[in-house]
Amino acid sequence: MATYIVLLGPPGVGKGTQARILSESKKLAHISSGDLFRENLKNQTELGKLAKSYMDKGELVPDDVTIAMIRDRLSRPDCEAGAILDGFPRTPAQADALEVMLKEFRGSVDAVPYITAAETILVERTGGRWTCRAQGHIYHEKFNPPKQAGLCDVDGSEIYQRDDDKVETVTKRIRVYLEQTMPLVDYYRKAGKLIEIDGTQSVESVTKVLLGALKR
Ligand code: ADP
Ligand code: ADP
Repeated sequence: MATYIVLLGPPGVGKGTQARILSESKKLAHISSGDLFRENLKNQTELGKLAKSYMDKGELVPDDVTIAMIRDRLSRPDCEAGAILDGFPRTPAQADALEVMLKEFRGSVDAVPYITAAETILVERTGGRWTCRAQGHIYHEKFNPPKQAGLCDVDGSEIYQRDDDKVETVTKRIRVYLEQTMPLVDYYRKAGKLIEIDGTQSVESVTKVLLGALKR
């Protein structure tokens, strides 16, 4: 049976960073809804244009298009063994849709690491985040700088600061998270799937705790 892990947590807590590490270590596909939207934006697809109007404001893209995009991604061959979901689901409707989809793929959500940190940390992390143009690799100007300024270590592409990482938009995104995504904490806790992880430590420490918790 395929394995599906959902990473839950506020913007900037380190979901994308940990998802990449987990996906390599567990040999599972990494599905980032934010990366998928940004790819559509770059390719100027209709979905990208629609998503941009919400992303710029720090609001969530409507459930129907988001769910359709994830369903398409989950049905690709590289997800046969399962996936690490990073940034999806973000609303109860998305979580319900995910359950239905995964049944179709003969699986279910196996575990939900819930990574947390105080708002000041989230603002500091998003404020210094640099993202790779080609594949979304993640850096931080202070905590995880690239070896060569302005360039991605992995693929050499340009790194840039996301428009929605400016402090006003981040504050809005945190509010949206508290209102629309927080209910999922209870949803997955009641299902016995939630694993609480302190995200304030270094990347390496968080990975260690995460891998240990997933083994159990
Ligand atoms: P999310 O996907 O939850 O928004 P990211 O993984 O993109 O978070 O991380 C946000 C920023 O914080 C990035 O610049 C990343 O390099 C940095 N970061 C991630 N985890 C840590 C950590 N444990 N300690 C310090 N900085 C971190
Ligand atoms: P972060 O890693 O900082 O949490 P993301 O890259 O995951 O940010 O998301 C950026 C933006 O993309 C969100 O503010 C939202 O507009 C859109 N988005 C990403 N995932 C979803 C989702 N599951 N549902 C709706 N909108 C989403």
